[in-house]
Amino acid sequence: MNKKEQKTIQKILWISKWKNPILALALSIMISVFAISALADKDSDADQKNQENSTKKTDVNPWSISMNEKIKLTDEQWKKKLSPEQYRILRKKGTEKAFSGEYNASKEHGVYRCAACGQPLFDSSDKYDSGSGWPSYSKPLEADSVALEEDQSLFTSRTEVLCERCGSHLGHVFNDGPEPTGNRYCINSGALKLETTDAKEEKSEEKSSD
Ligand SMILES: [Zn+2]
Repeated sequence: MNKKEQKTIQKILWISKWKNPILALALSIMISVFAISALADKDSDADQKNQENSTKKTDVNPWSISMNEKIKLTDEQWKKKLSPEQYRILRKKGTEKAFSGEYNASKEHGVYRCAACGQPLFDSSDKYDSGSGWPSYSKPLEADSVALEEDQSLFTSRTEVLCERCGSHLGHVFNDGPEPTGNRYCINSGALKLETTDAKEEKSEEKSSD
């Protein structure tokens, strides 16, 4: 209701008060009903907006979550996100065939990230040719980039290597690696995504030209 409307209503009320008390009563009832319905409309607008906001919240993309936050997805969500081979390795602890993986013989420079969540895991400078048929690294990028767990499958005791951020299976670590660490992180190519130094530089160049 704007000021002009209010003034007219007041005028009508004032006139009818003196000329016809019943008309005045009827008018004031009409005005209250009008005012209440206007308020109710406003409330339902707000409700709708709240609902829109809450649906937006559930649509949050897990890949935009900061690297420090752990990622927990359902099996179905992983299946949608990963290729069948990645899913088999990362989520079902599978192993790719020796000498078959994309990064086994790769000598490109860059950072190997988790193919499931993007966490930086290994640096190409720690990669060496172990002759095993799987990409091998003497150490992870940071001590806490990966998580280690005892693995009693296949009738032996091995140490499983998992992505610390999303818990995906990467491979195993053995103690027959090169000095000074003596460790061999034997990792499936299918669990990794190499971000080459060139690609990284291109990206930062794109950013700086913006
Ligand atoms: Zn991960």
